[in-house]
Amino acid sequence: MTKYNEIFENNRLWVAQKTAGDTDFFKKLAKEQNPDYLYIGCSDSRVPTNEIMGLDAGEVFVHRNVANLVNNIDLNVMSTINYAVRHLQVKHIIVCGHYNCGGVKAAMQAADLGILNPWLRNIRDVYRLHRVELDAIEDDHARFNRLVELNVQEQCVNVIKTAAVQQSYYENHYPTVHGWVYDLYSGNLIDLNIDFEGVLHNIQEIYDLTGKGLMKKKEK
Ligand SMILES: [Zn+2]
Repeated sequence: MTKYNEIFENNRLWVAQKTAGDTDFFKKLAKEQNPDYLYIGCSDSRVPTNEIMGLDAGEVFVHRNVANLVNNIDLNVMSTINYAVRHLQVKHIIVCGHYNCGGVKAAMQAADLGILNPWLRNIRDVYRLHRVELDAIEDDHARFNRLVELNVQEQCVNVIKTAAVQQSYYENHYPTVHGWVYDLYSGNLIDLNIDFEGVLHNIQEIYDLTGKGLMKKKEK
């Protein structure tokens, strides 16, 4: 484990390494950011965003919270999505969960977890939406893994429900939304292949915020 006072020495080495090949590395980076990706992931220390994606400083806009949740009334994540889509004009939004997620595990327990209750309620809601599928999985670990995946899927739906994403996609054909799981046991990223267009059209029957009348008229 790195000791606290070693961090600044690490920083100096990192600066030297970055400027060795390109003396203007930080000058160029300081001018502006133009990332193509917004990454929404779990706060878990074992999931280092830039490292697992092989991306450098300036390449990914990042939001992290416990269990990678996209809650409609969380001003933090909603501001991040809004800024990334409308101002940075990111081309891809990624929701990335991970197996063995402590937040998801906590939500599978029948217990009062204090201040975590309203946060983890979002995951219990995902369980309720997919109860038939999840209850049919007998193995506890397999059921836990599947809830991690379904949580990512539902948070992708929540991203797609936002006005910023719907309007930008209508006008520019970006961003697209992707759901990934990071496998802590192997280091591999797994693409859940979320059907972005399918989800978008499906949710717009109820959540259309484009103002373009995309909502299907109900047949009488
Ligand atoms: Zn986690």
